[in-house]
Amino acid sequence: MLNKIISIFLIIPALCGLYKSDNKDTEESYRTNIEQIAFENTIETANPQTDLYNIISDHFNSALPDGKTEKKAIIIGYDGCRADALNLIIKDYSGIQKLVDNGASVRLSYCGGINYPAENIQATSTAPGWCSILTGVWADKTGITGNGITKSLEYKTLLTTLTEDKIIDKASFTTSWNGHFINEDSTYKLEKQYCEDNSINVAFNYCSSDTQSANTTLKDIKSDDCSDFLFTILEGPDHSGHTFGFSTNNPIYKIGFQLNELQSLSILNAIENRDTYASEDWLIIITSDHGGYGTGHGGASIQERMTFFVCNK
Ligand SMILES: [Zn+2]
Repeated sequence: MLNKIISIFLIIPALCGLYKSDNKDTEESYRTNIEQIAFENTIETANPQTDLYNIISDHFNSALPDGKTEKKAIIIGYDGCRADALNLIIKDYSGIQKLVDNGASVRLSYCGGINYPAENIQATSTAPGWCSILTGVWADKTGITGNGITKSLEYKTLLTTLTEDKIIDKASFTTSWNGHFINEDSTYKLEKQYCEDNSINVAFNYCSSDTQSANTTLKDIKSDDCSDFLFTILEGPDHSGHTFGFSTNNPIYKIGFQLNELQSLSILNAIENRDTYASEDWLIIITSDHGGYGTGHGGASIQERMTFFVCNK
């Protein structure tokens, strides 16, 4: 209901043309924004986004802590969320803040390939960003230099390998973007087929909106037989950025981020409310695939290249 009310407040002024779409900020103002956030590292020491692969892999391959009987993990992705958007957090309505209040680490990371900060073959786009997080390697290995390229099976995602290797029982990939596994040229078309052909229990959930993606994830978490590794992408910042500008000065971008924050908060609350939560060892990550500049992304500006991750471990 709250989402609907906020949407109405946004859509009416948007239709009236009150928001500019040419809202470009300077690198200087971006760096100032970043300095206001309590990141544990700096732009210069940002982690490659491929580190997330290792964090998740290590989680599932390490021993269970005392008193725990099962490993679980979730990545909640905010598509197109710039690192300086963390200045837009509303304290009691934020998944990120909830993690931070419980001691999570908050780090800067980068997308766009191995040669940071130099530009290279991997675009700061959706398919390469999430693919590097899920495979732990860049486009020089996966071939995913941009959107609209189907990945071979040489480098499979952790969703598939953890399940195939029986380290976990099942995984889920939930998204409302058709470029991941729906389109003819989608990134994971072959991998989805591979999972189906080999009875590997990865659910590829294609949803119509962020609301449906969040609800699908909530339904999974609320079930006794919940996926062991959930990967859910929400599109708020990307959608508002492409239409009205990727900038923390843009009220639509701000709301796109804040709507996803509400959705992630409800997901985190649902995890805590699981009957078996006390005996589960959860790794929880909120991250983004790329940033944005003006009304686009794909290039090598710092606003596009820099991402972030918040991790409860
Ligand atoms: Zn994206």
